[in-house]
This record gives sequence, C-alpha cells and structure tokens, in this order.
Amino acid sequence: MLAIGLTGGIGSGKSTVSALLAERGAVIIDADRIARQVVEPGGPAYGPLVERFGAGILAADGTVDRAALAAVAFPDPAALADLNAITHPAVGLVMDERRRAELGTDHVVVLDIPLLRPEHRQLLELDAVVVVDCPPEVALARLVELRHMPLADAEARMAAQPSRQQRLAGADLVVDNSGDLDQLRGEVDRLWEQIRQLATARADA
Ligand code: ADP
Repeated sequence: MLAIGLTGGIGSGKSTVSALLAERGAVIIDADRIARQVVEPGGPAYGPLVERFGAGILAADGTVDRAALAAVAFPDPAALADLNAITHPAVGLVMDERRRAELGTDHVVVLDIPLLRPEHRQLLELDAVVVVDCPPEVALARLVELRHMPLADAEARMAAQPSRQQRLAGADLVVDNSGDLDQLRGEVDRLWEQIRQLATARADA
C-alpha cells in the first residue's frame, strides 16, 4: 500500500483530482465525508457535541443541524476550538482505521484532506503529500461561477485557509490546475505515473 495525502485550497480542484485518481484505481478516503459520518447519531462525535453545545444544535429528527452548529461555533474562537477538538480526532481515527485496513495490499490509498497539517504526515504514515494548486483568483472564479457561491462567502472561506505558499511548502508533488479540465487530466496522468514510480521504488526496497 502507498498512502498519499491529497490537499488543496477550496476551489483548487481537489475533489476533481480525487475523482480522477479514483478512476485510475486509487482507493479514496475522504475526510469531508467521514466528518459528516462521525457526527451522525451513533457516531463517535455525536454525544460529545450534544454535551458541549446542547440540544439546540439538533434538528427535529435528532441529527446535528450543521447550520445551527456553525452559528454557535464559528463566531466564538473557544467554541470553535472545542468543536475541532471533538471532531478532528474522531475523523483522524476513522481515517487511520481505513488506511490500516489497506495495509498489505498493493493499493494506492489517497487520503483526501482539505486542511492537511504537517503532523498528518506522521499520524497517518503518509508516503507523499500532493497539493492541487491554482492561482487564488482562478479558485475564486470557480467557486462563484461554477459552484454559485456568493463572492463574499467564497472570499471569507479562502481567507480562513492556509495561504497558497503555506500549502505548497508542505508538498512533495504538485498538480497544477490553472488550466482547463483536459490539462488537468494530463496533470493527473503525470501524477499517477509519479505515484506508480514511488510504489515500484517501495516494492524494490
Ligand atoms: P475543491 O474540491 O478543491 O474545492 P472542486 O474539484 O470541487 O474543488 O472544483 C471546483 C469547481 O471547479 C467544480 O465545479 C469543478 O468541476 C470545477 N473545476 C475544477 N477544475 C477545473 C478546471 N481545470 N477547469 C474548469 N473547471 C474546473
């Protein structure tokens, strides 16, 4: 198994790259999807969230109302820190469990993590970190034109993330997504070749 961390700023095209890697045979472990699962009733973060934030964050059917939770947690730094302290370790544990289930296989496992931090490399035993990169103005245009996000929301979400330079500083491999989708497919072919070489080098070691 080769474990690849995949990250990129919002609007960079990370989800698109993840889907293209899945087409090429990669096993995808998606942090966003797991983040939704851990807060479902019965999930490991559900009880601690209700205990910390109260029943006001719940919808009538007992599920966590993400908008209500965001409304109480996002404006208050201490509350946000608590939210992250409850959810991040739960997500990390599930990701690690899924990664471990692939040990001993010849799979390329891609851990898709929007906010990949330096410590993830060790915690999740990543063999390489791939950053999907494009100029911020291109990402912003995609969010507004293709995802129909209000401009102010898109700008706020981009401003809340690490900078392009910070992301690139943590990259072993970079996918350039400043061009069109055809160019992106070419970039992902090139990436897949680099990943295969890493896998071969690993098998020979
Ligand atoms: P992220 O997961 O990084 O936020 P997405 O993969 O969802 O970004 O891409 C944002 C939007 O831009 C989506 O609508 C996607 O289809 C589109 N997109 C991504 N890359 C390109 C590209 N090279 N050319 C045109 N549209 C793109």
